[in-house]
Amino acid sequence: MKVFNTLSRKKEEFVPLEPGKVRMYVCGPTVYNFIHIGNARPMIVFDTVRRYFEYKGYDVNYVSNFTDVDDKIINKAIEEGVDSSVISERYIAECKKDMEGMNVKPATTHPLATEEIHGMVAMIETLIEKGYAYKAADGTVYYRTRKFKDYGKLSHKNLEDLQAGHREIKVVGEKEDELDFVLWKPKKDGEPYWESPWCKGRPGWHIECSVMAKHYLGDEIDIHAGGEDLIFPHHENEIAQSEAANGREFSKYWMHNAFLNIDNRKMSKSLGNFFTVREISEKYDLQVLRFFMLSAHYRSPLNFSAELMEASKNGLVRILTAVERLDGLLSSAAEAEPGERENAVRSQMKALVEKYEAAMEDDFNTADAISAVFEMVKLANTSVDETSSRALVEYVKGTVEALCDVLGIITEKKEELLDADIEALIEERQQARKDRNFARADEIRDTLAAKGILLKDTREGVKWTRA
Ligand code: AMP
Ligand code: ZN
Repeated sequence: MKVFNTLSRKKEEFVPLEPGKVRMYVCGPTVYNFIHIGNARPMIVFDTVRRYFEYKGYDVNYVSNFTDVDDKIINKAIEEGVDSSVISERYIAECKKDMEGMNVKPATTHPLATEEIHGMVAMIETLIEKGYAYKAADGTVYYRTRKFKDYGKLSHKNLEDLQAGHREIKVVGEKEDELDFVLWKPKKDGEPYWESPWCKGRPGWHIECSVMAKHYLGDEIDIHAGGEDLIFPHHENEIAQSEAANGREFSKYWMHNAFLNIDNRKMSKSLGNFFTVREISEKYDLQVLRFFMLSAHYRSPLNFSAELMEASKNGLVRILTAVERLDGLLSSAAEAEPGERENAVRSQMKALVEKYEAAMEDDFNTADAISAVFEMVKLANTSVDETSSRALVEYVKGTVEALCDVLGIITEKKEELLDADIEALIEERQQARKDRNFARADEIRDTLAAKGILLKDTREGVKWTRA
C-alpha cells in the first residue's frame, strides 16, 4: 500500500511499526461552534483511510482529540456569560451528532485537552530538563526552536527563511528568539487555568497533541494526519516537542488533506462563505456530503457547489437503487448451478474489486475506487436479473455493499424525510388548499403523518413536529 508522506513529499510503501497494527492520530476540531464542511473533510477522509486498513485486516488504534481550551472557546463563553466547559461540551455533543450523520466511526479514543493537563506539564518539564524549553520571567514557557536540529523537516522550511518572515515582528515578552513558541502561558482574568511549576495558566495548542498522541498511542506512531494548514506551524512544532522529549521519531507517515473551497474561493469564517454540516443536513442526507468529499482525491483541492452536490446525490442514488434491485431479486432467486455466463460475471466483478483495491492502495484514490463501484453497478444492472442464481445475486450485492462500507456509504435506502422535503410538501399543501384541491392537500397530510410528521395549523402558519 502506498501512502504519500508529507515528510519525504513522496509516495512510500506503508510498513507498520508493528505487523497488523496501525497507530493513527488525527487532529480534531476546536469546539466553539458547529463544525463546518471544511472540518468535515479530514474527518471523512481519514475515517475512510481507517476503514480501508480495517478492510485489509489491520487493527487500527485511531485517536482524534477535541481541543476544548482555546481563545475562541473562552471568548464565546464570555459572550454567553457561561463557563467555557459549557461551550465545549455543547459543541462536542453537536460535533458527534454530525459525525454520526456522516457515518464517521467514533475514534478508539477521543481525548479532551483539558483532561490531559498533567501529561502536558510532565512533557514540558522534560523539555526544560533537556534544555529544549525555558521559563520567562512572567511564567510563560517557550520552546527553544533553534535547539531542535531537524526543525522545518516536515514543512520543508529552513530557519533562515523563517527568520526573514519574522524580521518585522518585535520580540515580545521575554523570548530568547523570535522563532520560539509557547508551551505554557499564564492565565488572564476570567480564563480557565491549571496549577503548574511555572505559573497558574494553560497549555499552548501544539503541546496538547504531542501529549495526547503519546498517552494513547505511545512515543512512536504510524500515521499523523490533519488538514494541510496544520503542516506549519502546528505539526512542525509537534515534531519538535515529541522528538526532543521522547528521543524517537514521532510519526513515520504524515498525511494532509487539501482544502475545501466554496465557489472556487477559500472557505473561511472571516469571509463568511462557509456552511456548517448542520446546514447541509437540512437539504441533503449527509451521506451525499460524504460521497461528494470522496469523489476527489484527498490531496486535491475540492470545490463545493450546488451542482456538484446534485451530481453526488444522483450518483449515490444510482448505487442505492442498484442494491435495492438486487435485494428484490433475492426474494425469488433460485438455487441454481452457475452457468458459463454467471462465471463470466463473477470474473468481471473480481477484476473490478482488484481495480477498486489498486485505487485505494495508491494513496487512497477514492475517486477511482468510486468509478470501480459505478462499473459494478452497471454490470449488476445489465447482467444480473430474474434468471440469475441466488449465489450470484448474493455475491454481487455483498461485494458492492462491502466496498461501499469501506467508503462509509450505507447502501440501504433511507425512508426518512429531510427538513427541506417536509417544508416543500407543506408549501405544496398550502397551495393545494388555495386552489381548493382538498384531495391533494389531505393526501400530503397523510403522507407526512405516515412518516411521523405532525402538522399543526396556527395563526403564524403551519408548524410541524416529528412524532
Ligand atoms: P480547526 O478546528 O480549525 O483546528 O480545524 C479542524 C480540522 O479541519 C483541521 O484538520 C483543519 O486542517 C481542517 N480544516 C479546516 N478548514 C478546512 C477546509 N476548508 N478544508 C479542509 N480542511 C479544513
Ligand atoms: Zn494537533
